[in-house]
Amino acid sequence: MDFYSGQISKLIEEFSKLPGIGAKSAQRLAFHVINLPKDQVEELAGAIVNARNTVKYCKNCCTLTDNDLCPICSNENRNHRVIMVVENPRDLAAYEKTQKFDGVYHVLHGAISPMLGIGPGDIKLKELILRLQGDVDEVIIATNSSLEGETTAMYISKLIKPTGIKVSRIASGVPVGGDLEFIDEVTLLRALEGRTEL
Ligand code: ZN
Repeated sequence: MDFYSGQISKLIEEFSKLPGIGAKSAQRLAFHVINLPKDQVEELAGAIVNARNTVKYCKNCCTLTDNDLCPICSNENRNHRVIMVVENPRDLAAYEKTQKFDGVYHVLHGAISPMLGIGPGDIKLKELILRLQGDVDEVIIATNSSLEGETTAMYISKLIKPTGIKVSRIASGVPVGGDLEFIDEVTLLRALEGRTEL
């Protein structure tokens, strides 16, 4: 891309590193940004830097938040004795959109994948086990129905079983290999209601 100035090429290169952004989209975004009023560009850049600097893991459930505790963990009206385990914050958001789950969550930030070399120590499992020392009635495993999601669900259920806490898995209304975040709310609710004890 020598026909662009160095700064533009650099901007295109940075955009093309983002997920789902191909070469064409990166160019379009770069030229869009260059044509924006300066104050808007500063706002955009500032929002990116601020988000990166201030967003952290919730001390309790490990989802992303601005504070020590996320809004769900700090909400006294939620049932803190029922924990739904999900792979990432987007899955949490998918269940929150249904407005039918009043428990709390635990975000693993990934799933166990021997093929990709991701082991139990690479996801937020220790944090989950620590939480189980408190008053917990049920752990609902809502990892994706991919091979990694199933492997993770099995691993977690074996880990929890000896504690006597009820462990359940969301029903397979969720298509095999399906990412929770792309599934409609009705299917998500059916999967939750039809969960089976492991
Ligand atoms: Zn939280």
